[in-house]
Parts: sequence; C-alpha cells; structure tokens
Amino acid sequence: MPMPDGGAAASDSHESASGPRASVKAVLARLQRATPATGATLLIYHRIGGGTRDELDLPTASFARQVDVLRDRNVVSLDTAVDRLEAGDRTPGVVLTFDDGFDDVYRNAWPLLERHAMPFTVYLATAYVAAPMRWEGSTAKGTAGRGLSWDQLAEMVDSGLCTVGNHTHNHVPPAELTEQELDLCTAAVEQRLGVTTRHFTYPWGIPVPRLEPALRTRFRSASTGEIGRNGPGADLMHLRRVPVRRTDPDSFFAAKLDGALGPERTYAGLVRSAKAVGLSG
Ligand SMILES: [Zn+2]
Repeated sequence: MPMPDGGAAASDSHESASGPRASVKAVLARLQRATPATGATLLIYHRIGGGTRDELDLPTASFARQVDVLRDRNVVSLDTAVDRLEAGDRTPGVVLTFDDGFDDVYRNAWPLLERHAMPFTVYLATAYVAAPMRWEGSTAKGTAGRGLSWDQLAEMVDSGLCTVGNHTHNHVPPAELTEQELDLCTAAVEQRLGVTTRHFTYPWGIPVPRLEPALRTRFRSASTGEIGRNGPGADLMHLRRVPVRRTDPDSFFAAKLDGALGPERTYAGLVRSAKAVGLSG
C-alpha cells in the first residue's frame, strides 16, 4: 500500500472530514442497514498524525475516536483471526493493520494501542526502517515520512501486541515482486527483532498470482486491497481488507465495522466513476 485507488484519492484530496467527500460518505453511512458483520474485518491504516493532508494520513484525534469505538469491538491479532477462519468460526473480529511502517504509528497510534491493550499488525517494508519512506511509484505528496526504527519496533513487539508482517524489502511494484524481496524482509526482521514474519500484504494491495506458491510456503496469510470481510472458507492467501481514510466521517468509520460494507463499496464506485470522467485525480 498505498493502493492505486487510495493513492489517487490522496492526490486529489485537500479537505477535512467535513468537506464534500465526507458529506457523501455521511449520506452513504445513513443508508446502511444494520446487519451485523461476521468473520474477520481487516482495517487498513498507513499513517497516524503524520501532519500531511494525504488521504492515508489520519489526524491523531480521528484515530483516537476510532480507538474509542474499537474498545467495544472484538479487536484481535491477525493470528487469532486466521485461527478462527481455519476453525470455521464466524465470530466477528476486527484486525488493525498498518502498512509500510511509518514512524508516526509509533509516536501517535502506539500510545493509544498500548493503553487499551489492542493487538495490531505492522506490515513492514524493511528497506525503509529509520529512513525516508520513498519508493518508486509512491503516491505520497510532500515531505516523505520516516520509517520506524528497529528500537521502536522492538518495543512494540516485546509488548506482545504487535505482529510484524512482511511487505517486501523495497516495496516493489507487482512486476518486480520476487522471492528474494520476501526473503530479504523476513531475514531482516528475524535478525533485528527475533521474530518470524508469518503474514504478508501485497504492495499496493495488488495480488501477484505467479508468486502464490512461494507465499503459501512462507506465510499463514496474505492480504490484498480488495474491499471485503473474511469468513470461514476465505482464501487465506487473498484476505480482503477495508481501508480507513482521512475524510471518513465517524459514521462512515462505524459502517466499516457493521453490515455488508455497502457504503464502502458505493463510495469506491463513485471515486472510480469520478476518475473515469476526469472529475478528480
Ligand atoms: Zn505499502
């Protein structure tokens, strides 16, 4: 991540959670029927309080309100969610995933996650540890964020709350994704943190079918940017996720946790349509 969709959305958004995007989302959220969710909902975060206006960079106050909502939910580790899927258990559970490994996650999200003992996963691109987060095809605007340091990662991992997932070493585009990219990341994490990466997420959320056999031998799960929840019988190498964005009003965030994800899908369709007719991006 960022996904093509999320990245493009970032480029044309310079508004807050009260702008036109937010208004559309608020209307969509009101149309949501209150059907309970089942199975695993994997939320996608990137940056928290990074100070940019990127769609993938949430103000810390927004994230804090989301954590308050999540306290009443069943937030579980990615391993627990996968255990349940393998056992055919439909219990609703929310998994918090942070893509790339920005250091603002440590500064601004970690204090809240630690206080409430919430498990979470950082899908780490190891080439950017303690370095500027810039890679080929990155859609981020303005000053690059910095990557988490090994010390910050170690503190979070040692708490037992943080799972470190594999997000390749160099955050390469799909065409350049190789087994070596997977193994460089795994080796760095093992050497510096003493843990093995058991879960993978594709850069930009784009599945690479030719790499699937290699993923299956290395990881318990692989996740994508495809919107959806995961129930028993889900393909563990194609877990779906739900993105969280800067202009999501609180009601729209709540709609990510319940129901059939109708507002989320409708909004994604609207963004695609707007781009198709050249209204944004
Ligand atoms: Zn990424």
